[in-house]
Amino acid sequence: MKITKQILQPLKNHKRRHLIALPLLAAVMLLGGCKDETATSALSAKVEALTAESAGPVAFWVATDTHYLDKKLVDGGAAFEAYVNGGDGKMLPYSDELLEALVYDAEQKKPAFLILSGDLTNNGETSSHKELVKKLKRIEQAGTSVYVIPGNHDLNNPWARSFSGENQIVAKHITDKDFDKLYADFGYDEALSRDEKSLSYLVQAAPRLWLLMIDSAQYAKNEQYGFPQTDGRILPSTLEWMEDCAKLASEAQASVITVMHHNLLNHTSMQVSGFRLNNSQEVLGQLRQDGLNLVLSGHIHMQDIRRDQGAGNTDVTSPVYDIATSAYAVNPHQYGAMTFDPLTRKVTYTSTAVDVEGWAAAKGSSDPNLLDFSSYAEDNFASSSYNKSLQRLAESSFSASERASMAEAMARLNVYYFAGTAKEHLTEIKAMPGFKLWEQTEGGFMSGYIRSMADEKSESNVSLEMVLDAPQP
Ligand code: FE
Ligand code: MN
Repeated sequence: MKITKQILQPLKNHKRRHLIALPLLAAVMLLGGCKDETATSALSAKVEALTAESAGPVAFWVATDTHYLDKKLVDGGAAFEAYVNGGDGKMLPYSDELLEALVYDAEQKKPAFLILSGDLTNNGETSSHKELVKKLKRIEQAGTSVYVIPGNHDLNNPWARSFSGENQIVAKHITDKDFDKLYADFGYDEALSRDEKSLSYLVQAAPRLWLLMIDSAQYAKNEQYGFPQTDGRILPSTLEWMEDCAKLASEAQASVITVMHHNLLNHTSMQVSGFRLNNSQEVLGQLRQDGLNLVLSGHIHMQDIRRDQGAGNTDVTSPVYDIATSAYAVNPHQYGAMTFDPLTRKVTYTSTAVDVEGWAAAKGSSDPNLLDFSSYAEDNFASSSYNKSLQRLAESSFSASERASMAEAMARLNVYYFAGTAKEHLTEIKAMPGFKLWEQTEGGFMSGYIRSMADEKSESNVSLEMVLDAPQP
């Protein structure tokens, strides 16, 4: 080990009102070995120094899918408006304000560190990355360390655009070679170890708490494809390196949280591809063997916490958790506020909405949308959902008023589903007249969506308490 510092299609007039299957989000919105002894002793010294600092619980945050878009790339014209309306619910017109509110929130609440698990930028625009780096520097200046990994949108992305009047203009994007230089201060330069074949690294974030930051994105062929590849995987050599990292952590008696952009577990019972790692079963098996039982992910843009109990022997194996934090760029614009206790290895997680209102008031903003941001953002998300549902139903055999009430139910469901609170609102949703009409439809996306909601597990999607396993030697 080298130690280094959718498209919404109108429905046809089916007698039985069959619906068309759509991808979830579109429809919804609609190192080598560790054998170097000199390096290992240097590492031990570093770890001991950090461990001696304190033994109390540490507070930290995880946010994902910030999809930051530099405001210099946007003029608010027709092309931008159409892009936002045709998108998946990201609050792009207030992208800068959302990140400023995060800086402010971190300055006020001072978490020890902030994890950003990929899709840092809208589509990998060079200027978005550079502006984001400036904001992250300010977070570090206020005393919060920042650790990042890339997502599928951040590197070699041919979709990078600026918007001018009626036109989208191809914007400069960064490559994978630029990433660790740009984000050197946010993990790469502090790494205890770096994987040679990816942008993955291991870092000590707090006394006895290490982060295994995994680059699960596949960006080598994006230019050739003409689009950013959505699905993810962990390379065999990276998996071997991860095993070495677990050994190192075991020797140092550190606990490990694994962070990746793509999901380890399925976060929906719907048949959608591209969210879970392509080799999720293999990775899950290895994580369990290595005693790495907590993954923080993103990518799916909705809030969901799952655990995998193992192959039947529930009394023998402890569960592996995957917390998918909802996209920071999407309502309700939340991050996970977490704690870790080095004495008990206990971890807590609580979804927390960013305080845009507080930031706007503090800076003397006169923008009513910012001063009442949580309502504005929810209304905006709901109406976007509503409009897309209506479009889908345009040619269905339902009456205009039926379609309106179906779109209404869909909009409410989406608000709760993305926030991770659908379970708490099942009774309310099921009582909506529009919901009953959706239930009459057969096959296709919506009945699947309704079903996935009905089999919502009893555990919370917005909070968790668990104990980290000891990494295995
Ligand atoms: Fe994303
Ligand atoms: Mn993604």
